[in-house]
Amino acid sequence: MNTKKKKRIFILDTSAILSGKPINLDKATIVTTPGISIELKPGGRDYRSFQFLMERGLSIQSPSGESIDKIKTISSKTGDVTRLSQTDIEILALALDIIKDVEKEVIVLTDDYSIQNVANVMNIKFETISQPGITKRFKWTCRCRGCGKKYKDNIKICPICGAETKTVISSKKIIEK
Ligand SMILES: [Zn+2]
Repeated sequence: MNTKKKKRIFILDTSAILSGKPINLDKATIVTTPGISIELKPGGRDYRSFQFLMERGLSIQSPSGESIDKIKTISSKTGDVTRLSQTDIEILALALDIIKDVEKEVIVLTDDYSIQNVANVMNIKFETISQPGITKRFKWTCRCRGCGKKYKDNIKICPICGAETKTVISSKKIIEK
């Protein structure tokens, strides 16, 4: 068996960068995606946290289109797609790309429940920064505010009565840690 320790790769999402919490970067590689620099406006405190991490070795990597498509498909099924920003999708897709490298251990640092939810479904490891983290796996569904019919797909307007739908949790599954 290969006893060589896997190289740890931390992928930081926007919430991890904005937390401003010190992140132990010893012997770890930290990466994020190009979307982060678009979400953060230059000049503010958030941008300074980002710049600080860049100076400490945070690198920016783009995920493959193939992985982006995969994340979009999965998050549509779980219902998280409407809660994920383009950057969130990039973060998960990048994790999916790096996970293929058997010499690397990928951990997504995020406080975002939808990212955690999709990461769980995809068997991507994650750690939270400040929130306790999810202990249940959610599946979201759309329910019509008018007639109450539930839809598996993300339907904004009910085709039966024309009322708007809202997103509700349809099932919970306890995650064993
Ligand atoms: Zn309806």
